[in-house]
Amino acid sequence: MKDIATVGRTKQILKDHGFTFKKSLGQNFLIDLNVIREVLDKANITDRTGIIEVGPGIGSLTEQLAKRARKVVAFEIDQRLVPVLQDTLCPYDNVEIVNADILKADVRTTIFESLSECDEVIVVANLPYYITTPILMHFLEQNLPIERYYVMMQKEVGERISAEPNSKSYGSLSIAIDYYTEARVVQNVPKSVFMPPPNVDSIIVEMVRRKTPKVDIDDEALFFRLTRGAFGQRRKTILNNYSSIFEDGKEKKEALHQMLEQAGIDPRRRGESLSIDDFAKIYHEVKASSD
Ligand code: SAM
Repeated sequence: MKDIATVGRTKQILKDHGFTFKKSLGQNFLIDLNVIREVLDKANITDRTGIIEVGPGIGSLTEQLAKRARKVVAFEIDQRLVPVLQDTLCPYDNVEIVNADILKADVRTTIFESLSECDEVIVVANLPYYITTPILMHFLEQNLPIERYYVMMQKEVGERISAEPNSKSYGSLSIAIDYYTEARVVQNVPKSVFMPPPNVDSIIVEMVRRKTPKVDIDDEALFFRLTRGAFGQRRKTILNNYSSIFEDGKEKKEALHQMLEQAGIDPRRRGESLSIDDFAKIYHEVKASSD
C-alpha cells in the first residue's frame, strides 16, 4: 500500500471515511514524503527514540515516525479522526492515539507511562497554526523531560521564535523561547505540500531544550511580565512601556527610571534592542526593589 503522505492515498482515505476538513482546527495535511523525510533525518530519530506528536490528522507524519522511532504517542483533538487513524495506522503496533486537546492533556504522565522504555523523548509535529504559540509554551513552561522539538509552523511565527535583538521579528516570544531552548530554523516549506494548501507559508524550527534556562530567574511570571511589557508598544521606550504596565504616576515613573539606570539600562532604549541578559538585569533590579 502507498504511504499516507501522498496525494492519491490521502484522497482515498478522505473519500473512504467521508472526512471533511475543519478549518477552525487548522487541518492542513501533509502530502509530500520528501519534506517529512528531510525533517526526520534532521531529528536524528532512532529505534530508541520516543515521540510525542501533536495533531496526527490522518497519520501522514505519524506513519513515517512509527517506521523509525521506538514509540509514537499522538494527541488528536478531533474525535472524527480516531477511526480514521485506527484504520490508516493499523500496520504499526508502536503508535498510541490519545483523543485529547493537547492544551489540557497530562503530557508528563503520558511520558512516564507510555514512553518510559525510550532513551529520549522528542516532539515532532505539524502544528495547528491557530494555537502554535500556546502549544509550545504549554510544553516548555511545564519543564517536561523532552530533549528536542521539530515543529512545522506558520513562517511568521517561526521567524519570531528564532529572531535576534534589533530585528523586526524580535519580541517577547523570541525571549521566552530563548530562555528555555536553543532554536533555529531548519527549512522553509511551500504551501503546495499540504492538502488543502494553507494561506500562509510554513517553516520548520528545531528547538533543543537547555539543561538550565539561559538566565537565572526564580520568579518566571515576573520575568515574562517584564519582557512582554517592554514590547507593549514597539515604538515606545522601555520607560514609557513600563510606566503603563506599572500604574501611571510621576513618582512611579521616576522610580522606574532610577531602577533601569541602576540595572545599567538606558531608559530611552526600546524593547527590541534588549537582549535576554539585559532583561535579566532589569528583573533582578525590580525584584530587589520589591523584596
Ligand atoms: N500531522 C498531520 C499532517 O501533518 O498531515 C495534521 C497536521 S494539521 C496542520 C493539525 C492537526 O492538529 C489536525 O489534525 C487538528 O485536528 C489537530 N489539532 C488542532 N487543535 C488541536 C489541539 N488543541 N490538540 C490536539 N490536536 C489538535
